[in-house]
Amino acid sequence: MSELHPVVKRKEGLFFPSGNFFLDPQRAVSHAIVTHAHADHAVAGSANVYCSKLTAQLMQLRFGERAAGKFHVLGEEENFSVNGISCRFYSAGHIGGSMMVMMKWKNKNVLFTGDWNHSSCGHLTPCRFPQTDILITEATFATPGMNHPETAEEIKKISESGVKVVAGAYRTGKAQRLSYLMSKYAAQIPVFVHRDIVPVHRLYENNGFNTGNWQPYSKQQFQKEKIALYIVPPQTLPSYYGSRDVATTFVTGWKHRHKQCTFVTNISDHADWNGLLQMVSETKPSVIYTMHGSGKHFQTHYFASGIDVFEIQ
Ligand SMILES: [Zn+2]
Repeated sequence: MSELHPVVKRKEGLFFPSGNFFLDPQRAVSHAIVTHAHADHAVAGSANVYCSKLTAQLMQLRFGERAAGKFHVLGEEENFSVNGISCRFYSAGHIGGSMMVMMKWKNKNVLFTGDWNHSSCGHLTPCRFPQTDILITEATFATPGMNHPETAEEIKKISESGVKVVAGAYRTGKAQRLSYLMSKYAAQIPVFVHRDIVPVHRLYENNGFNTGNWQPYSKQQFQKEKIALYIVPPQTLPSYYGSRDVATTFVTGWKHRHKQCTFVTNISDHADWNGLLQMVSETKPSVIYTMHGSGKHFQTHYFASGIDVFEIQ
């Protein structure tokens, strides 16, 4: 198995046999390359974790001392070795500190993207697409026609609502993107951030990422404002459903999360269909593996072009 494919699926997650390490494992392992700090990519307790500085800090924020036995902190486009395999990180533009990793396998380049986004909105290091022989990519929105709306138009829904808005946003990544976008497109509107999200904003800022103008939430201050935005974690949003004082929205590309909200704000941290095609044209792989989503449209799309597409279930 390990000779046919550079990666295999194991119960711990995606395994790179020739280097005896895992990519974004879901259980603690001896050697893990972690692309970014989202919970479905970063777990606590691995003995050796190779990641960016901000990913290490975000994991320490969530898991404390049990985050990792040892962090090996690497910079963008810095060469490093894991059990003899040459590796290099490239910015993934998904959330702060997110990286793709290029690895060597049988004299071929293998690029594992983790989650990535071709639109960094200006607050993250833009996504970099190095050329590769083999591409392992997420396929979250790999459906023809599934393209994200203009971000500026989505922000207008908040800024032109004429009321106070409570917005649900994932604590790591989306909340910081949202406060940055408000400063970019609707700087006149005060932005308040929930206390559980504030430490992530601070880490972003300490690492040089622009999170826009915002302040920690104060009920008194928020009530004084006629129009304002309050960014809360997803689990806090339902307590505002049906409120007469505020409108609610969930800021995400996931349609099912918009139910019960006053209006939809469709801003995603994942590449859309056009982004995926652009990435393939720039990385020029001869083989593609897809994860997180269906690769069947990819298989159809690239069938005649000679690119083999495999789905990793
Ligand atoms: Zn993610």
